[in-house]
Amino acid sequence: ALWITDECINCDVCEPECPNQAISMGDERYEIDPRRCTECVGHFDEPQCVQVCPVECIPVNPEHVETREQLRLKFQALQAGG
Ligand code: SF4
Ligand code: SF4
Repeated sequence: ALWITDECINCDVCEPECPNQAISMGDERYEIDPRRCTECVGHFDEPQCVQVCPVECIPVNPEHVETREQLRLKFQALQAGG
């Protein structure tokens, strides 16, 4: 999963681009739910939030480093209604 650092300027452009509804406004800035972020595996070749973010503040979440296979399984679970 990816995560949003404190460099986020709350510009709102990433939230509607997420195919998994993983992005939402938190207490101070936008946040990514690691249970829903597949790094866009299953939907797109590139993480859509990273593509649109103007300040490049969305790296891999160091607490949720996953293989492509793990991301693919998460995608399948989400598609099944998880
Ligand atoms: Fe959503 Fe894709 Fe960004 Fe993850 S990488 S938060 S799934 S847009
Ligand atoms: Fe924050 Fe980047 Fe999303 Fe804008 S696109 S709300 S700066 S994470």
